[in-house]
Amino acid sequence: MAAAGLILALDQGTTSSRAVVFDSAGEIRGIAQVPTAQDFPHPGWVNQDPNEIWETTKVVAREAVAKAGIEADQIAAIGIANQRETTILWDRTSGEPIGPAIVWQSRQSAPIVEQLVARGLTSQIQRITGLVPDAYFSATKIVWCFEQDPELRRRADGGDIAFGTVDSWLIWRLTQGREHVTDPSNAARTMLYDIRAGTWSDELLTALDIPAAILPAVRPNQRLICEIGPELLGATLPVMGVAGDQQAALFGQACYQPGQAKNTYGTGSFLLMNTGSEPMASAHQLLTTVAWDIGRQTVFALEGAIFNTGSAVQWLRDGLGIIDTAAAVEPLAASVPDAGGVVFVPALTGLGAPHWAPHARGTIVGITRGTTAAHIARATLEAIAFQTRDVVEAMERDSGIALHELRVDGGAAANDLLLQIQAEVLGVAVVRPQTIETTALGAAYLAGLGAGVWRDQAEVADRWLVDRRFAPEMAKQESDERYERWLEAVARSRGWHR
Ligand code: ADP
Repeated sequence: MAAAGLILALDQGTTSSRAVVFDSAGEIRGIAQVPTAQDFPHPGWVNQDPNEIWETTKVVAREAVAKAGIEADQIAAIGIANQRETTILWDRTSGEPIGPAIVWQSRQSAPIVEQLVARGLTSQIQRITGLVPDAYFSATKIVWCFEQDPELRRRADGGDIAFGTVDSWLIWRLTQGREHVTDPSNAARTMLYDIRAGTWSDELLTALDIPAAILPAVRPNQRLICEIGPELLGATLPVMGVAGDQQAALFGQACYQPGQAKNTYGTGSFLLMNTGSEPMASAHQLLTTVAWDIGRQTVFALEGAIFNTGSAVQWLRDGLGIIDTAAAVEPLAASVPDAGGVVFVPALTGLGAPHWAPHARGTIVGITRGTTAAHIARATLEAIAFQTRDVVEAMERDSGIALHELRVDGGAAANDLLLQIQAEVLGVAVVRPQTIETTALGAAYLAGLGAGVWRDQAEVADRWLVDRRFAPEMAKQESDERYERWLEAVARSRGWHR
């Protein structure tokens, strides 16, 4: 079985479900992807259908295996990576979801966060969870659901309701309701998990009045997490690795040494730096999070979560209609030498790290009669890069480690112009690996290490190969001046939404 050394990675993202079959050389043997719909019922709200998340995962798993031309029993193990924080409640008896999945970007619980802050809970939350209190994390989304429906709270108190992030939901469905589990990297994003103790925090459950009965059991990221019956693929298969998508990408980018960092450019962007075995508290509003617990020792990371990067490109496509596809932003932006003085702050659902400005909204400044769609497109790519610099500067101050290169991945990392702009804005090399499916790869590495396909992390790190390195060419002074203008625009975007 393990002799075939094939791993199936399930990567359930915000905009699509993907499945990838990797062989023991880390090469892709089959890949399938199906988009998932998002629903925006009110400004700042983002919902998804939990059943669609599950159905699309099932479809892509089968399709990837079929495309790879393999039999299910050649698969040594399954790995799962998932969009984090997104909150799903379901009925333990029927297995049916209660309402939509509340997506990580969704802001409806912002008033609940404000109440927590007003109650003076900020430092307690930071100390226990490593997080900045924000509607982004699952905890206040759960409270919001209870506030909508008192009957739901009563049933939750009685043990009838299960909560899970997408990993838990998928495993519940994959095991036909036998397993209600999560892993430390996902648990660390709920704002209910004590990252030092490695347990759910009774203190915070009490403070938020959330019944412990709804929570999944927390299992390490790598070992036999559960077994999936033959209903899915025709063979009983072990799930040997689970991680939140960003931690999976850090693992897939082989950032195993403290100080190594990666940025993933997807719907949002997520910059994570491995900080080793000690959780490093942030003085600059970054998040301290569990990277992975693979048995010997928990590894921690500092994280800057940027809410809107690829989604700003989506907005150019769907909202403004100035491009037909996301990839078309690159030639449009390349058709002008610069943004012509336009600065776009894509605070479409507020600003995340390091600003944490939930009431900021998208702001475009510097428009003149000469401004064209191309300038807006270029300003969008620049905004993605500037937001990354905001996080890098905070991270360098927190960690005392100067970043000397940034490993990149995610859908928008296919954009060469974006990565060149990123190198200019940061003043360090930006490095794209040959496999930019690093989220799926990280889940595959976790599962494959568990199943013995790869010996150890050193062997995995040797497989990390560079596709292209983007070196900065712009003078530092010019780059700094442009960045100053960006910060001025950020100041103007704040506090717009009431
Ligand atoms: P997620 O995992 O968050 O669903 P992906 O990693 O699949 O996201 O990346 C998709 C995002 O990247 C979309 O928001 C899309 O607008 C953006 N994107 C895709 N291709 C490009 C490109 N060539 N240039 C800029 N943005 C892109």
